[in-house]
Amino acid sequence: MTKNGPKSITARYKKILENKAEEVRRSMSAQKAAQLVSRLDVPSDEGDLSQQHHEEWIFLNRNTLDMKLLREVSDALHRLEEGHYGICLECEEPISEKRLDAVPWARYCVKCQEGISTRIAAGEYEDEYEEASR
Ligand SMILES: [Zn+2]
Repeated sequence: MTKNGPKSITARYKKILENKAEEVRRSMSAQKAAQLVSRLDVPSDEGDLSQQHHEEWIFLNRNTLDMKLLREVSDALHRLEEGHYGICLECEEPISEKRLDAVPWARYCVKCQEGISTRIAAGEYEDEYEEASR
């Protein structure tokens, strides 16, 4: 069997993924900077305090999402280097280009992702992203 994933496509997704990783990193440091600024600026009367807590919560929440995204993107880049990018980790079928265009770091084809989401929602399946050791 020959590797018939055209190099140009791989190179294209590599670029997309690298840009995404860069974007997320930038957004994370921008948020960190913004948070520091808001800490210094916010006068601490009571109304502002709860507002500040709210903003911190949003910040942490968003940061967690960014971390998760960054990990998914770097996992995808790793798969790309290993030469099995774009292959569903569940059924080992190629993931459609349409899906990769929408979610370049997709691990599963649409069908398997749906099944996994259903099982996670039902509590029958651990979200493996949470278990990633890296
Ligand atoms: Zn699949």
